Amino acid sequence: MRQKRWFFLVFLVPVVFSFYWLVFRPWSVPIGSPPEVLYDQVVLDPPPIKWGGKIWVPVNEFGLVAQGPSGYLPLSQVMPALGRSPSGGHGEGIRLPLWGSGSKKDSHYRYYPVYQIKARLEPEKRIIVGHLVLAYQNPYFYPLYDLLFNLPSNGWPGSENTLTIQRIVLNNKPASFIVKKSRLEVFLHRPLASGETLKVEISFTTYLPQRPARLGVWEDTFMVSGWYPILSPREKGAWRGMAEGIAWGDPYFADSAYYNVELELPPSLMVRASGRTTGGEQRGERVLWTFMSEKPIREFAFVLAPGWKQAYAQIDQTLITLAFRNQLPTSTLDIAMGAFAFFKEYWGPYPYSYLNLVEVPLEGLSGMEYPGLVFLSTRKGYTPPVIVHEVAHQWWYNLVGNDTISSSWIDEGLAEYSTLLYYRVHDPVLYRQLKEDIIAEAGETLNLEELSEALNRELKSFTSEKDYRQVTYRQGTVYWLKMEEKMGVKTLQEALRYIQEYYRFERIEAPWLEGILNFYIQHKGK
Ligand SMILES: [Zn+2]
Repeated sequence: MRQKRWFFLVFLVPVVFSFYWLVFRPWSVPIGSPPEVLYDQVVLDPPPIKWGGKIWVPVNEFGLVAQGPSGYLPLSQVMPALGRSPSGGHGEGIRLPLWGSGSKKDSHYRYYPVYQIKARLEPEKRIIVGHLVLAYQNPYFYPLYDLLFNLPSNGWPGSENTLTIQRIVLNNKPASFIVKKSRLEVFLHRPLASGETLKVEISFTTYLPQRPARLGVWEDTFMVSGWYPILSPREKGAWRGMAEGIAWGDPYFADSAYYNVELELPPSLMVRASGRTTGGEQRGERVLWTFMSEKPIREFAFVLAPGWKQAYAQIDQTLITLAFRNQLPTSTLDIAMGAFAFFKEYWGPYPYSYLNLVEVPLEGLSGMEYPGLVFLSTRKGYTPPVIVHEVAHQWWYNLVGNDTISSSWIDEGLAEYSTLLYYRVHDPVLYRQLKEDIIAEAGETLNLEELSEALNRELKSFTSEKDYRQVTYRQGTVYWLKMEEKMGVKTLQEALRYIQEYYRFERIEAPWLEGILNFYIQHKGK
């Protein structure tokens, strides 16, 4: 009898336990309280707003009934309603319970990847042999099963296979991958959990075509952008590749990361890059140049040429340099300095110690923006407003980015609007001229609602460079001019300064941008 009962229990206990585990475990795990983070440690969708010294949160996010016209409540009122006491008064130290945002595909922690790139240029063959190490921490609230890298140089019209991949290693174990034009898909050995870190090593070779382009060699100048595998951004829970084969606009974009780069170059070539130069050491026949980004930047580009002349200007912590070939271009450096000082004041701080302007033989574009680096075309020529526009991109493109494939009007429109703001103060005659030209070239007159419909267009939907420019640049600027009329120049500045603060080193998406602008419109004068 005793023995029988024991025998019975041996069977019963595992059966009951398995049944309990299978049926109840998913529900019996204590949910606990949501993680708490400082309001600026996480990117929420929709974002919290700072207004009148308080942080306002969209109440729907926290399961509360919306009150007031905009559905926002001060965080100091939301916290007691959730049974919590606010931790840090009304300032920076206030903690948000991360309620519900785990299911939101675009909410993430601010973990910035770190790229370490070592590359050697072979100038006669016009190739770069590179080795990249990426330290990546999954910033999302869900696991990742693969990584997508963009190979931008393969995505330009007629440039397939300029960037080739030799080997990929994940956490010291070789990994399998697929390359399809500009897409490099890397399969992870096992899922990468939220917050977990992965080391990715990629060996690659990039061929530099002979052309006066953003990636190309022309005369004796090497223009080098989009030259290495760069992690694709994610949108709505999926990787966002490049818009291949499109000649206009910026058909790829990236999220910010720290960069440490070593370039091995022949001693005859000088270099200007998207980073602070930290060393230039002779190594046999070569010079080993080292760079660091200091803070996150959106990508790393550089230019090489022999025999540049240079001019310098220091503004606060930042050294602005101009590299040019022949005559010192009159006033280029002065205009860059004026614009830089103005935008620092108007939009917010510039967190790097370097800003490099370089004259290059670029075809088709007067200027081109990279983080801490501006191309100015000697081939097409550039005017003073082009310099101001490119300097403004350091705030709108580099510090705060956007999807340049579906909403290029955000950074282009804001760079143009910034240019108008600069001239409104510094040269009112030129300001009126530029404004009239933009309005005339924008074509049909649309109101704000019609504009926000018309502006969010995929790059491939434009029929030509001219069509792209009319919508993205001209109508994109008219949008900001109309927004200024609607909310007042000061309130618009305040809203955009908030975006510079909350979205620094991040990307703003069009619906979030409109949400923030609407908040400021509704609370205007409060
Ligand atoms: Zn631009």
